[in-house]
Amino acid sequence: MKEKQTILLKISGEFFKDNETIINNTKLIEIANQIKVLTKTYNIGVVIGGGNIIRGGTSTLKNVARTTADQMGMIATLINSLALRDQLRSMNVKVDLYSLIPIPTIARVYNINEMKNHLANNHVIIFAGGTGNPFFSTDSGIALRALETDAKAILMAKNGVDGVYSADPRKVKNAKRYDKLTYLQALKENLQVMDLTALSLLKDSGVTVQIFNADEDKCFIKALTNKIKSTKMTK
Ligand code: UDP
Repeated sequence: MKEKQTILLKISGEFFKDNETIINNTKLIEIANQIKVLTKTYNIGVVIGGGNIIRGGTSTLKNVARTTADQMGMIATLINSLALRDQLRSMNVKVDLYSLIPIPTIARVYNINEMKNHLANNHVIIFAGGTGNPFFSTDSGIALRALETDAKAILMAKNGVDGVYSADPRKVKNAKRYDKLTYLQALKENLQVMDLTALSLLKDSGVTVQIFNADEDKCFIKALTNKIKSTKMTK
């Protein structure tokens, strides 16, 4: 049997938030349903951000150190990841949650070889805790995981924007939209697509990063079959 290709899905924490709760149940189920469908074709890794709870860099807690705020952010990604793990389990999807911050009573401690075995056996792998280090983001985390797993693509569902633009299209009317671009171009033109660390990690790789609107129904499935607008970034 032909080995399945690996793709990694990135969704920001913000996506799950609504006016009442940090994790909207309907949105959680919708994402899990898409993942279940995609496991038939791909080996899947998932990274969820923590922005629905806290982002270290924009924390307004005056007496909380940046490193602590970032730790809080990493724990926020774990909270979201736990919800997705249990949702997938309830749907009989084989799933393993790894945390890059070791917290063994709650999630598997990160072990590349073990993770890759599970991935090859078509378990969905959820990566929590970003890189495990402060001053990074989940973008850098997913870039590392893409290189480790020889992923074909990172699919990035963005809130309220259908691709990469030269400036925020909600603020700048004539912002240029890119259907395609290179990592070097994104770095040189300082495009706000992924953070610089993530772009630098990926710039010589064969990984494609595809960016599209998270608000589209079945966004990951449609992006993979080019049924929605997206930007594709390659080397
Ligand atoms: N974070 C971190 N190191 C990492 C990944 C995340 O310190 O490797 C912290 C950081 O404070 C970040 C927060 O966790 O702001 C949430 O992650 P991110 O901002 O990437 O989430 P998203 O914006 O995608 O929801």
